[in-house]
Amino acid sequence: MTDFKGHCHCGQTEWTATLQKDQQAHILCHCNTCKELSGSTYTLNQIIPTKALNITKGGDKLGKYTYKGDSGKGVHCYYCPNCTSHIYHQQEALGPDNIVLRTGLLEEGIKKFTPGAEIFGKDRLSWEKEVAQTFEVMPPS
Ligand SMILES: [Zn+2]
Ligand SMILES: [Zn+2]
Repeated sequence: MTDFKGHCHCGQTEWTATLQKDQQAHILCHCNTCKELSGSTYTLNQIIPTKALNITKGGDKLGKYTYKGDSGKGVHCYYCPNCTSHIYHQQEALGPDNIVLRTGLLEEGIKKFTPGAEIFGKDRLSWEKEVAQTFEVMPPS
């Protein structure tokens, strides 16, 4: 396991994520919610245990935005209230022990991780090329 540091754009929020070898990759999410939340083509993510994320600065001040996911259950997004960097979200469908971390905000992650898989391929923009194994929605569990 390796510790990866992350920080938001303004520096008010800092965190460390402890990742297993197989978690040191980006899962590209092409869903339409990710497009709206990021203003971009897809987001970079990894599902990790809740306890693997340690918010070392600004954790008591995080903003929270909740929406209803495809499952009909809540998705709680946590972001820096000053600069809006989206650090992670917690899906009620995944239970309290797992979160979805934005791997693109890890200092070494954005430089070194490569795409591990693509999800919500059904919503991929027509000009976006496939770069990893793609699932129409989610991998079969
Ligand atoms: Zn910030
Ligand atoms: Zn998404």
